[in-house]
Amino acid sequence: MKKSPIANLREGLDSGDLSSEYLALRSIEKIKRLDGRINAINAEMGEFALNAARLADRRLRSNVDGRLRLNGDRQPFLGIPVVVKDNMACKGQLFQNGSKITKGFISPFSATVVNRLLSAGAVPVARAAMDEFALGSSGEYHAFGPTRNPWDTSKVAGGSSSGSAAAVAAGYAPFALGSDTGGSVRLPGAFCGVSALRPTYGVLSRYGVTAMASSLDQVGPMAKHVEDIAMGFSVMAGVDPHDSTSVDLPGIQDLLPLIPKDLKNLKIGYFAGDSVKAIQPAVQSCVSKALETLEGGGAKIINIDLPCASYALETYCLLNTAEVSSNLSRFDGVRYGNRVSSSNLADMVAGSRNMHLGLEAKRRILLGTFCLSKGHYDAYYLKALKARNAIARSVMEIFNSIDFIVTPVSPITAFALGEKVADPLEMYMMDILTVLPALADIPALAVPAGLADGLPAGVQFIGPRLSDCDLLRLGYAFQQLTDHHLLENT
Ligand code: GLN
Repeated sequence: MKKSPIANLREGLDSGDLSSEYLALRSIEKIKRLDGRINAINAEMGEFALNAARLADRRLRSNVDGRLRLNGDRQPFLGIPVVVKDNMACKGQLFQNGSKITKGFISPFSATVVNRLLSAGAVPVARAAMDEFALGSSGEYHAFGPTRNPWDTSKVAGGSSSGSAAAVAAGYAPFALGSDTGGSVRLPGAFCGVSALRPTYGVLSRYGVTAMASSLDQVGPMAKHVEDIAMGFSVMAGVDPHDSTSVDLPGIQDLLPLIPKDLKNLKIGYFAGDSVKAIQPAVQSCVSKALETLEGGGAKIINIDLPCASYALETYCLLNTAEVSSNLSRFDGVRYGNRVSSSNLADMVAGSRNMHLGLEAKRRILLGTFCLSKGHYDAYYLKALKARNAIARSVMEIFNSIDFIVTPVSPITAFALGEKVADPLEMYMMDILTVLPALADIPALAVPAGLADGLPAGVQFIGPRLSDCDLLRLGYAFQQLTDHHLLENT
């Protein structure tokens, strides 16, 4: 079986054949060479990266009387380059959220997930492009230009973690951090042929991650191989005193070494819901093959229905815009954000927001403010909360009779740049299958499922609350039976 990229690097680092500094320089060089075309990166972290790499090298080896001695520090992430989405704080580094309003902002502290990766010896090399404040499905709402899909640069990379997915697909780093509110690691993962985990709500701390829709936001690890996701995940998971919504994940200490889930007698419910009408035939054929693979491994595939799921996208859009309108109010040019000058406070705030926020952010602020306003709150926001509960309950119930759910990640593959930006509803439709786990607070893992008309397609595995470790074992079992995650874009 082919070793995962991180396992390969690990071997080189542990044997002394590779140094972390060399790997960091290699990432930086690759970004310089390729990113003019892809635009997955909005800020390099040269010095920061090299310092972290040199620190990792000192942990790996010491110089004794002029001879190199390996120290035997074998942490899985020691010396490994990673890319971090631009909505996660790294102390002393640009922290721009893909937005002009925070352009030039330097973070005074690091997010917990970043700190945990750093303690494990990981080397953050660059800040990944993203849709502004993670609002989007294509990576085109990035204030510093759209990310292009490494498989075909006329296509989008998917959003909002467009840069994280494209960076892994283009080989800048074997691992990236994204964030997922309604699909933002899974959709770009699927579009770029990368695996991506949305953990159970609370399992990864959100301290230092810019809040978009707080009741839905999660950090999500991304890598081609599920094993590499598991490695990064195990380093970051767990309660954080800085994030009161964080929870401990039972069994996380036994996650590594990752063992494949035994597929025999596993009951997996297949669901495509309303996306069936929109599904691209070549995507369908990838999904069907994935189902056959699972069946071939001994799993039982059952078609399931989740009637509540028809309301998932509308429910998500209402809750999302409401929370976005409230969270983005802090970017007012006073506490955060670039300011336009005016002698009048109201004009200064309005002017700063008007000048520096992008179209999609403004759209959601207006929609969200409307549905939270007096006279509309009950009809929209409260109703959406009730719908969310009903959806979560119906999904929870289905797990009484099955072990996991499998769905396509998206009905289609990456679309052309510019194709959907003018039509927000078309853009929101991209999330039709990814919002469900987000609303139900449950984990979901997207894995590559092959090429559909030459572009990557993905399948999504969904498990009950806190089943993250098992979900990774399932994804690993799937990747042992397939080689989609090994495909390279040329
Ligand atoms: N595409 C979804 C949206 O625009 C999800 C975004 C995300 O998960 N950050 O809301």
